[in-house]
Amino acid sequence: MTARIIDGKDASARLKDAVAAAVAALKAKHGLVPGLATVLVGEDPASQVYVRNKQKTAHTLGMNSIQHDLPATTSEADLLALVKRLNADPAVHGILVQLPVPKHIDSFKVITTTSPAKDVDGLHPESAGRLVSGGDALVPCTPLGCLMLLKETVGDLTGCNAVIVGRSNLVGKPIAHLLLNENCTVTIAHSRTKDLAGLCRTADVLVAAVGKAEMVRGDWIKPGATVIDVGINRVPTADGKGRLVGDVMYDEAVKVAGAITPVPGGVGPMTIACLMANTFKACCVQHGITDIAVPTTLPKKG
Ligand code: NDP
Repeated sequence: MTARIIDGKDASARLKDAVAAAVAALKAKHGLVPGLATVLVGEDPASQVYVRNKQKTAHTLGMNSIQHDLPATTSEADLLALVKRLNADPAVHGILVQLPVPKHIDSFKVITTTSPAKDVDGLHPESAGRLVSGGDALVPCTPLGCLMLLKETVGDLTGCNAVIVGRSNLVGKPIAHLLLNENCTVTIAHSRTKDLAGLCRTADVLVAAVGKAEMVRGDWIKPGATVIDVGINRVPTADGKGRLVGDVMYDEAVKVAGAITPVPGGVGPMTIACLMANTFKACCVQHGITDIAVPTTLPKKG
């Protein structure tokens, strides 16, 4: 058996198209343009690429994007003051401070200073609390993307045994709560879990969000299970360039799973599309707009 490959690039393109259509409708009907403010502190090259892509995508989808580049020496007080100004700016509907921030800045303070209404990263404790209590929330983008891929692949998730490997606030915990809200039976595994391989073998849906290259082996996977590989790990290659691999040993897993996300090209591309959907949603909620649907599921192919 060879697993069906879940094409995150195609899914991301469809979601972005849906967001662009919703943005156009918002402008036509209400004269409103969603605005995303991104803040980058320092000059980490990977973060620069991420932020630039977010800005570019927002523009492409018809949104306003406002970029703030601050030097690595920016004080915590100055960063928090900027976040407060963005909270108060009516042209800004979503705020994203690119993490990690330099060590002298407390990222939790940055997260909690961001207005929950503009928290498009979904990291504010109020957003997390809303998700846990089953309410409407701005959900972290990567978990939201995983959920959309899973719903399209599996359909109704009710009753599925889901094992999430990883319990971070950014990925593992929100995915677990999203799947609980979909009536899965959810187990969260982590570095202290006993018999991880045996536990993974019970999963109809297995989500790996660990940050350890190719840790999940083929014989950890229940035949026919759906595998979502969130991991992004660079491993060395002979030519010195390195290559990206996930947390799952793909070549083994693809022979056992029913469906699987590749790395790259699986979960990764969904994250940015979900950020755009979150920015659109934040704008609609802030303006009390209910006559244009926020894209929450993947539009059909073709
Ligand atoms: P964190 O480092 O914050 O969390 C990793 C989790 O994995 C922790 O809960 C940790 O357990 C658990 N873990 C570590 N080692 C083991 C082990 N040997 N066995 C079982 N569990 C283990 O990472 P993130 O959640 O932020 O990210 C996870 C991965 O996803 C990374 O590869 C990251 O690059 C990627 N990522 C991808 C994104 C995308 O867009 N595709 C976006 C965000 C992240 P414990 O809590 O006990 O320490």
